[in-house]
Amino acid sequence: MGVLRGAGAGPLCAAARTVIPRLWRGRRFSSGEEPAENSRVTPMLRHLTYKIKSTGPITVAEYMKEALTNPAKGYYVHRDMLGEKGDFITSPEISQIFGELLGIWFVSEWMATGRNSAFQLVELGPGRGTLTGDILRVFSQLGSVLKNTDISVHLVEVSSKLSEIQAAALTEEKALLEQTEGSPVYMKGVTKAGVPVSWYRDLQDVPQGYSFYLAHEFFDVLPVHKFQKTPQGWREVFIDIDPQVPDKLRFVLAPSATPAEAFIQGDEAREHVEVCPEAGVIVQELAQRISLSGGAALIADYGHDGSKTDTFRGFCGHKLHDVLTAPGTADLTADVDFSYLRRMAQGKVASLGPIQQQMFLKNMGIDVRLKVLLGNSDEPSTRQQLLRGYDMLMNPKQMGERFNFFAMVPHQRLPDRNYQKNAQESKPSPVPVAGFDELVWR
Ligand code: SAH
Repeated sequence: MGVLRGAGAGPLCAAARTVIPRLWRGRRFSSGEEPAENSRVTPMLRHLTYKIKSTGPITVAEYMKEALTNPAKGYYVHRDMLGEKGDFITSPEISQIFGELLGIWFVSEWMATGRNSAFQLVELGPGRGTLTGDILRVFSQLGSVLKNTDISVHLVEVSSKLSEIQAAALTEEKALLEQTEGSPVYMKGVTKAGVPVSWYRDLQDVPQGYSFYLAHEFFDVLPVHKFQKTPQGWREVFIDIDPQVPDKLRFVLAPSATPAEAFIQGDEAREHVEVCPEAGVIVQELAQRISLSGGAALIADYGHDGSKTDTFRGFCGHKLHDVLTAPGTADLTADVDFSYLRRMAQGKVASLGPIQQQMFLKNMGIDVRLKVLLGNSDEPSTRQQLLRGYDMLMNPKQMGERFNFFAMVPHQRLPDRNYQKNAQESKPSPVPVAGFDELVWR
């Protein structure tokens, strides 16, 4: 997850753990030479070793899914891992400006696409609810623009602990609901301003309709499959028990091709790749929804455009953490492959980006907003906090270059190739999508 999770642990990207898979040949294992390092036996490790003993080595995707979101012992399910006391910190937790600019982005898309009389704001993986809270504040500040617009909030969250924190942050009153057949909503609430909020475990359960989707530091926690190119062809990386050290896990290579290999592109030039089929399914669902009902999706995460190889890593207490040690106690993450997301949208929608966070926020007017907030405050500690937050979001060495923004919009939202023809017919050409072009103040 977030960059600052690595604060104090040296340069993050350089420190990413390198996978040196060992060959897995049925029940015969090659010997492990690594020293018996800290192998804390967590309940999750027990669960995984039982599983491996009974059915054999597991994929990295299965390992990630179990360690992060297993309903009983998953890392995300029962704790608040965000913030200075947690394992990592994210942009919305660092500065209110981040959420405010994203709020403006949604309003700007809403205006550019015809000011629908109703829209849903849908956030995937809302953490502490801070980002949605900041966006809703912008919506109420822009009350005169949004008046008579029916807004509802829909949160997709698997963590019971975090959904409680989100409800405390966002709602005046809330009700936990029995998940009855026919209703996938597990909690409902209403904000102080009267906006209804509903919680779901799966995007597919969110009602269809004109919606703005938001995923910040969500795609990077979805499970990835890892593959290594070998002289025999692509081989998937699995996780197995180290035969030399009890309660220690290690990477191994599958002895033959596995079905997940189908996800690798025929012309793939890299030696090692990570593929996240779950991200593909979610992007397809988003693309389908946007093409049918309108709206837009904004995805922000650290990632690459199909160039990186081994990015699987762990974070605990703001430090890098060995991904195979003490599973269930640390965050596990892999960089988002935006080229894969674009491919998965399958032309149903137009995509923009990825562009670096510093560029996106600059285009959205972060400098103007900072100036206004500084102008409003004489308090030295507030001013210092604002400046520090700005630096963290924008500095290329902090989050400015590592984080990227990617958007999906309906095709008709962008100027089409028949621009000349449109001009002749004097059709108004669509305004540029904010953030991906310099913001023009009109
Ligand atoms: N967006 C927030 C939090 C990022 S942490 C921020 O930027 O501060 C990742 C979030 O995704 C957490 O809320 C976690 O509980 C949630 N999450 C992880 N896996 C999920 C899944 N498969 N489905 C829905 N939510 C998930």
